[in-house]
Amino acid sequence: MLLKILLLIGVIGAVYALFLKKKKVESRGDEQTMVPCKECGLYVSSDEGVVADGNHYCSLECAKKGAR
Ligand SMILES: [Zn+2]
Repeated sequence: MLLKILLLIGVIGAVYALFLKKKKVESRGDEQTMVPCKECGLYVSSDEGVVADGNHYCSLECAKKGAR
């Protein structure tokens, strides 16, 4: 009987941990979207990056290079 209870707690704990992990990833995705720079491939948040002609760049330098 005690073993069954321990097993149940273990299962609930594992499900709870998975749920928390999933929630954490989802909430991080809501905060900022990471986009790769079209020129050098560096990932920057959409807030920090530069957008030129619908393409994302990490900096103005890369935006100039990509525009050529
Ligand atoms: Zn770049």
